[in-house]
Amino acid sequence: MDTIRNVVIMGSGCAGHTAALYTARANLSPLVLEGHEPGGQLSLTTLVENFPGFPEGIQGPELIANMRSQAERFGAEYRLAHVSAADLSTTPLSIQVGNQTIRTRTLIIASGASARWLGLPNEQALIGHGVSSCATCDGFFFSGKEIVVVGGGDSAMEEALFLTRFATKVTVVHRRDEFRASKIMLDRARKHDKIHFLTNTVVEDVYDPSRKEVTGLKLRDVRDGKTRDFPTSAMFLGIGHVPNAGMFAGQLDRDPDGYLVTTGYVFTKVGGVFACGDVQDRRYRQAITAAGSGCMAALEAEKFLEDFEDKD
Ligand code: NAP
Repeated sequence: MDTIRNVVIMGSGCAGHTAALYTARANLSPLVLEGHEPGGQLSLTTLVENFPGFPEGIQGPELIANMRSQAERFGAEYRLAHVSAADLSTTPLSIQVGNQTIRTRTLIIASGASARWLGLPNEQALIGHGVSSCATCDGFFFSGKEIVVVGGGDSAMEEALFLTRFATKVTVVHRRDEFRASKIMLDRARKHDKIHFLTNTVVEDVYDPSRKEVTGLKLRDVRDGKTRDFPTSAMFLGIGHVPNAGMFAGQLDRDPDGYLVTTGYVFTKVGGVFACGDVQDRRYRQAITAAGSGCMAALEAEKFLEDFEDKD
């Protein structure tokens, strides 16, 4: 069996990399298990304009790559692996990665959140064939086409603006006529001549799985309930994210939307287990707040290990 690790970090977004940097600099030799979506949400975004220190902005993938190399410089170890299960009732804690069991004194959960889907009858069949949650990954395939973006938050506005590089027309479909998006993002989208808005409208289904491509959407006006078909070549979702905390059901407290419940910022109810970033933050969900909470989790893990040693 492997030796017992001091710190295992689950997830490699802003929170995970920052926790790795701090625990590496504290000589704790952290192991980062990168998860299914290495780099987290920043790796799927374009220009980040609100991370302090970059007056001209910085591309999300570059920012996240910099964070990783900074943590690696101090000895953080990265493994492209996904945690399949964890037993938090044991000392040390027990983490399952495939058929390997990793034992660790502390665990920092920075598993983030993944894109939310609408749950439409044909949606899953068309993912990768015109249904997408990642404009930067898939936008290019729809050059010269008309595209729909669903959502009314910053993600939807960002996706819509990005997709204007390829599309002839982008229609933002939003279920209300008020927007969660910040004023600056909404104004940019509203001013763009390729972007159109359809408010008070929901998507009921997407066509056409038999052709393995998106040919249109069934839309419903929520005010009068009338439905109609709307031709489009792609549907990009920007309807928020779901925290990746399902595997801790029954072991850690979660709120009704599945976010891990923490006290004192990053403490879970299990000693030595800390949570940071979007898996526990339903309020701010920013790159900088994720990084900040990753730092807090690292400092608390360090403190926990010191107390642990004192007891030995
Ligand atoms: P969000 O702010 O939670 O917005 C999600 C949007 O999707 C809302 O408009 C919501 O509608 C809609 N929605 C949710 N479920 C839906 C469903 N089942 N059907 C139809 N519409 C649905 O999420 P987000 O846009 O991903 O942003 C998350 C956080 O990241 C925010 O704090 C945001 O500021 C931040 N962010 C910042 C930037 C940036 O600054 N560049 C970029 C992206 C994200 P309702 O409004 O009706 O609930």
